[in-house]
Amino acid sequence: GDFPIEVDTLVVGAGPGGYVAAIRAAQLGQKVTIVEKNAVGGVCLNVGCIPSKALIEAGHRVEAAHGYENIGLTTKDVKVDFTKVQEWKGQVVNKLTSGVEGLLKGNKVDIVRGEAYFVDQNTAKVMDEKSSQTYKFKDCIIATGSTPIEIPTFKFSDRVLDSTGALNLKEVPKKLVVIGAGYVGSELGTAYANFGTEVTFLEGAKDVLGGFEKQMTQLFKKRVKKKGANIITEAMAKGVEETKDGVKVTYEVKGKEETIEADYVLVTVGRRPNTSELGLEQVGIEMTDRGLIKVDKQCRTNVPNIYAIGDIVPGAPLAHKASYEGKIAAEAISGEKSEVDYIGIPAVAFVEPELATVGLTEAEAKEQGYDVKIGKFPFAANGRALSLDDTDGFVKLVTRKEDGLLLGGQIAGPNASDMISEIGLAVEAGMTAEDLALTIHAHPTLGEITMEAAEVALGTPIHIL
Ligand code: FAD
Repeated sequence: GDFPIEVDTLVVGAGPGGYVAAIRAAQLGQKVTIVEKNAVGGVCLNVGCIPSKALIEAGHRVEAAHGYENIGLTTKDVKVDFTKVQEWKGQVVNKLTSGVEGLLKGNKVDIVRGEAYFVDQNTAKVMDEKSSQTYKFKDCIIATGSTPIEIPTFKFSDRVLDSTGALNLKEVPKKLVVIGAGYVGSELGTAYANFGTEVTFLEGAKDVLGGFEKQMTQLFKKRVKKKGANIITEAMAKGVEETKDGVKVTYEVKGKEETIEADYVLVTVGRRPNTSELGLEQVGIEMTDRGLIKVDKQCRTNVPNIYAIGDIVPGAPLAHKASYEGKIAAEAISGEKSEVDYIGIPAVAFVEPELATVGLTEAEAKEQGYDVKIGKFPFAANGRALSLDDTDGFVKLVTRKEDGLLLGGQIAGPNASDMISEIGLAVEAGMTAEDLALTIHAHPTLGEITMEAAEVALGTPIHIL
């Protein structure tokens, strides 16, 4: 018999989906409460995007510190104090999570610690260890995110790691097996390879980094192999035996069973949506057979005052997609006509070279019946890339043949993660190859590669024959 607290909008989960939704809803005048059972910032800030990028950057710097004999630099005695690396990574995370808390408070969003559970279409209970509090809401945005999938034969432990375990290691492993070379596995594997770990990737599919074009994944494979990594594709991980100070992983490849020993095994075979322990069945929310919540273009579920965003709805499980949907849902609640349009959502793998894509790939455009014209330009023909001593990769623009409309683009190369924004903007704005070609890019910059790729699509490149 507790007294219910009444709010306009209840947001469940304070990851990049939930906290952005809460801030936008508050900006629009809603009285907002956000419930979080762990830490503000969700997976992304605490155990995902941010700490992984910090570790990746530290790895890059270790590699760079080893010198570049080809440009006349040698260094001696490069030492890694991994405890310090981890401390620094923790500081980066803390700055951001406390920043987000400050933003929520500054926007007058109530932050409640606890686990939310739905009672009916307007009621949720929030429980912590000691107590339970009922909330009555007009509208609700569910943003509970996802959790690493555990393979039954690879129970997570001190040696059998999920992504969080791999991010928080106290030492640089001598040997690491990575099961599943998607974004997360490839990124963390690369980071440790740069710290000197001998990494073996076991990937079930024919290629690593599914979703990226072969020409892009090839560049990654070549580079990571140079760091001493081993990539075994079409490999079925079968089981693991934990030894005193390591693991023995068995896998099957081409019908043959093999074993490999390592200090740790990282299992990154995907994530499952956190939708099964919310009481959604009591509200009658419709789900897909994979446990994702079905939503319309305003992120509204079949229950009209309940919205869902981020990793728990269909689409790429990415932080910026969660945040984008968060704004749409908050605006829809305020009666605005906002709708999702996924064409401009980029995807980036922070491996070496960085791989990025936005809009359609060439194959997707053709499947959709477009007659396409491709404009492709290599980093190796760009002055800035040469002076960075980092020339692997290309920018590829996919345009509609009849009028040059930009349908999408892919970038492999240094800074692809930042460069993809320009192509995203062009796709969003309905620009053509000519628009990109006519945009004056500062010299010498990597951005010129995008301009030149547009010139290639137009048939008038200056710096390539
Ligand atoms: P989450 O971030 O998962 O947040 C959900 C929150 O809800 C959690 O804090 C959880 O505790 C809380 N919660 C769950 N149930 C309840 C409940 N019942 N009551 C209260 N609270 C609850 N994406 C990128 O775009 N770029 C990257 O570089 C990138 N790198 C990644 C690296 C790693 C190692 C991992 C694991 C993921 C990475 N991602 C990246 C993916 C990204 O982290 C997710 O897509 C993103 O966090 C999803 O946001 P979300 O708001 O949907 O959910």
